[in-house]
Amino acid sequence: MRVAVGLVLCMLLASIPTSSAQSDSSEEDAWPGDPVDSHVHMTWAALTLEVNEWADDYPEIVDLTSIGQSELGKTLWVVRLSNWSMETKSDGSQKEIVYIDGGHHGNEYLGTALAWLSAKWYIDGWAEGNEEAINVLDNTELHITIMLNPDGNDIDTRWNINQVDLNRNYDHYWNTCPTTQPGSSAFSESETAANGVYMNTVVPDADLYVTMHTGVWIMLYPWGKWPEQPPDWELYHKIREDVQDNISSIPIQNANQGLYPNCGTSRDYGYGQMGFPTFTFETDDEQFVPGSFENLNDRLGEEMDVMRFLINDVWYWRAQLTVQSLAVAQDSITLTVDNDARASTANATLQYLDADGMLLWNSSLFAVNASSTNTTSLDATNLSMVEGGTFSLSYQVRVIDAARWVTEPVEGVEVQFDEEKEPSFLIGYGLFNPLTLMACFIAVAAVANERRELEDEA
Ligand SMILES: [Zn+2]
Repeated sequence: MRVAVGLVLCMLLASIPTSSAQSDSSEEDAWPGDPVDSHVHMTWAALTLEVNEWADDYPEIVDLTSIGQSELGKTLWVVRLSNWSMETKSDGSQKEIVYIDGGHHGNEYLGTALAWLSAKWYIDGWAEGNEEAINVLDNTELHITIMLNPDGNDIDTRWNINQVDLNRNYDHYWNTCPTTQPGSSAFSESETAANGVYMNTVVPDADLYVTMHTGVWIMLYPWGKWPEQPPDWELYHKIREDVQDNISSIPIQNANQGLYPNCGTSRDYGYGQMGFPTFTFETDDEQFVPGSFENLNDRLGEEMDVMRFLINDVWYWRAQLTVQSLAVAQDSITLTVDNDARASTANATLQYLDADGMLLWNSSLFAVNASSTNTTSLDATNLSMVEGGTFSLSYQVRVIDAARWVTEPVEGVEVQFDEEKEPSFLIGYGLFNPLTLMACFIAVAAVANERRELEDEA
């Protein structure tokens, strides 16, 4: 790879004197590739060399695999980054999962470059001992498919080799908007089919999906299909507020209003079918400066700052319920729940399970808004307590129908019981238990009977 970059750099140095001012570090950060027309263009071959070099150099964090193949048989590389020596977070909980893809449109180099940089930033950070990068890789799996459309990329076209717009080919209201070249059916193309399978089988638990394009400088959230705000509008608006207050003035809008109606996109599919919080990240339409390498950290620094924020705070892009108190009375339960994260949940239930984990009782549904505390009273007339019983919360992590479900045990809080409901040894086996009473009667009767027989014999 270094040889390839070096060769290209030599060509540039010969023709463009100003390039000689570039330092070694910017050479290191330059996007690999070849000058094509007015861009430095990363070919699939250059990408293949680069990602394999990453895997060779940093096996402890880089797991290189593929989501499938393009129509022409090119490997669709996915770079999986995490500290693979740790199976879980240090507290034993499941790592956060982030999915990123770039290059749906083969002539949108900066979008592909941002996906490339999203991997490169964490690899370089890890190598340099950067605390933020180490912390993210200890707690998160980043799955990054840098170039989804290598066939189109290598011939500098928006479409794939079948002249299909891959970002209109997903199975979410496919071909229901005025559009061009959506393909013969949803997922008719091997690139989109592979991406759909990867989302469904490998990263279905992702709490962030960002798909990277080049066009207008804007971030788009669902829907492309409808002008209405999505069910999780609160989450998207909160992210917009945080980004615009602290990081970047990049516009963040509903895709239908911010751009134009678009259907069958990976963004709407990721949200509507997978339940991920999704963004289309459009870097601006000014591609590379003609004939020059650019340091992508300079060129896409602000975009990368936004990505780092979204990745660092991925924990917040879901509902995250913590029980503050749980009081069981004869006919009702009073439950106080915190939601520390930024998404609401609409249909949580409290569950009661026996010692073997068998579900014995489900409460009615209740909602908990984002960033709030909610006290609710639940009807518990049908709830019978048992020895060793436990409570759990079951809920969807976002409001959208497709959001994933979690079931989390109620831990770290002492359950308060009214006397009548207390599941104790005395109630289960005590003096006033009907079975105990019946056993007593039988025993007394037997003893009395025996004594009568003895008396008769006497
Ligand atoms: Zn695009």
